Amino acid sequence: MIFTGDDAVTDHADADLMDQAARPSAHGFQADVARLLELMAHSVYSERDIFLRELVSNAADACEKLRYEALENEKLAADAGAPLVAIALDKTARTLSVIDNGVGMSRDELVASLGTIASSGTRAFLDNLEAKGGADEKRSAFIGRFGIGFYSAFMVADKIEVATRRAGAAEAFLWTSDGKGAYQIAPLDPSLAPSLGTKVTLHLKAEAEEFLEAARIEAVLREHSGAIAIPIDLAEAPGAAPRRLTDGSALWTKPKSDITPQQYADFYQQLANQFDEPALTVHWRAEGRTDYTVLAFVPSARPLDLFDPARKGKSKLYVRRVFVSRDIDLLPGWLRFVRVVVDSADLPLNVSREMVQASPIIASIRKAIASRVLQELAKLAASEPEKFRSVWDNFGAVLKEGLHEEPQRRDAIFDIARFSSAASGDGQRSLKDYVANLRPNQTAIYYIVGDDKKRLAASPQIEGFRARGVDVLLLDDPVDAFWVTSAIGFDGKPFKSATQGRADIEAIPLVDAGEPPTNDATPQIAALATTMKAALAEHVEDVRISTRLCESAVCLVAPDHGLDRQLTRLLSEHGRAEMLGKPVLEINPRHDLIAALAKKAASADQTGVEDGFWLLLDMARIADGEPPLDAGAFAKRLTALLVKTGG
Ligand code: ADP
Ligand code: MG
Repeated sequence: MIFTGDDAVTDHADADLMDQAARPSAHGFQADVARLLELMAHSVYSERDIFLRELVSNAADACEKLRYEALENEKLAADAGAPLVAIALDKTARTLSVIDNGVGMSRDELVASLGTIASSGTRAFLDNLEAKGGADEKRSAFIGRFGIGFYSAFMVADKIEVATRRAGAAEAFLWTSDGKGAYQIAPLDPSLAPSLGTKVTLHLKAEAEEFLEAARIEAVLREHSGAIAIPIDLAEAPGAAPRRLTDGSALWTKPKSDITPQQYADFYQQLANQFDEPALTVHWRAEGRTDYTVLAFVPSARPLDLFDPARKGKSKLYVRRVFVSRDIDLLPGWLRFVRVVVDSADLPLNVSREMVQASPIIASIRKAIASRVLQELAKLAASEPEKFRSVWDNFGAVLKEGLHEEPQRRDAIFDIARFSSAASGDGQRSLKDYVANLRPNQTAIYYIVGDDKKRLAASPQIEGFRARGVDVLLLDDPVDAFWVTSAIGFDGKPFKSATQGRADIEAIPLVDAGEPPTNDATPQIAALATTMKAALAEHVEDVRISTRLCESAVCLVAPDHGLDRQLTRLLSEHGRAEMLGKPVLEINPRHDLIAALAKKAASADQTGVEDGFWLLLDMARIADGEPPLDAGAFAKRLTALLVKTGG
């Protein structure tokens, strides 16, 4: 924690504990929080309504937490009333309060929860915001699409008070801050404190007075918090009778036919803390050996922390409508973009998180969710290809992790997988489509792996494939290099790297029957290959006469056995250089440059011949996106060559 040196009230290290607890204390916010508050206070006010969604969802969470704690604690159970969130407006005092009878916060919890950024999501938000930079409107539009929690209230308030009593505790505390870098915590006279739970009071800024109007509050709540599983009341003025706004019945318990798309969308946004519409909603109830209900959503926008390994779960587990945990893994890693609520009738309520996680019931629910989501994605792919395309563009890279991690799901994932290919332009192909359109004598599914689709499409290694009308899948996601080597094949056709080994494509007819690429190179070119191999032996395993080149003079491929070039590169990035095999350099016997070099190599005058070998090797490396072996030597050789041709 960073202290700001607020000297109005200070902590004294030598004070005894009792004394310290009774005295108000001042604290600085953690550095990240200070940064976030600054952003909040200065954001343009187009999406500031979201503060209410954040406070209401915290209040509802607190009620759910208390319900859970009360399961094991009879005393708490006796004190707890029916869970309720109430909103109270006071035009005279210019305040808006959100009150809950939930679990409340102890002094330590106040410090930890309202002075610190703990969630990785919030940090990801800050990082992204930083990256966006630019105009304020752009930034604030972005704020509304992201759950940023309690601190968003500083968009509308210049002072916030949180009066709270931890369930079961005698003492209560008041947290106060003007959102300018520091906050204070003081003990609160128990007679003034809520008997249970938390009251968050916002002192609204002058330009946020609209939030004192009941109609405005109602509209915002309907929009953002309609599906909250706790009832919400509104009291329009001090002393006025509260009015019930939502009944808090859990959406997933209702029959599908009674739920509107809007209600599903509201619920999804609440659950995911995102503002997009779900691209796919899957809601079903399993009855039989185990009873449970699942409501799962595939987002239509990428969550910011999709690739963050520490991503906080956005799934919620309930047991008979009692919220149990957000931390149970209900999805395999390769479905981590799915947002899901599970309500189980069979799990015991009062066991530890670890035991729940290890229970066979959870294991079978997990399996069922994965199967069902894949099934529904396949349906979407068939019925709404455009919509599915956007799902695949957003999450295909994550889904493909499943090919590697869960081999038994491979067929189901292959079924929905879509690939860019050398022939597909901006479109994508399924494997089924690829296999249905094999060329005569084509026996494999050819692919090329790399990180840049454009460069892959222009690779010299696939020229001969193109000339034969053989399409090559362009695999440009990091995960591709892994599954493609472990997957056996699709529909009986093996996957084969277009950049490895001999191309073996001579038997496939050319599209334009022109001069066929051939292996029976003239003796001069065969001799050239031998000389080149001797000269470059340190860097290449072999120099070979190519059947896969058409327009280019040279290219590098992986040896027949061993690893694909891209995988080799990935491993060398991870310092596993000992696994590196040397590549094979292929030369194009029909290329003028090769023919000329062969002629020269066979003649009496050898000047520049060896330089030519090295230049060709470097050219092949550059076409693969690698630097020349020795940039200085490369530049010298090229200069010498250019001087010669120029002069
Ligand atoms: P998040 O809800 O994502 O954790 P917030 O900034 O909204 O982030 O809230 C931070 C934390 O503060 C919560 O996780 C919770 O522990 C605590 N908190 C906020 N509001 C309440 C409340 N009304 N009752 C109890 N705890 C609360
Ligand atoms: Mg929150």
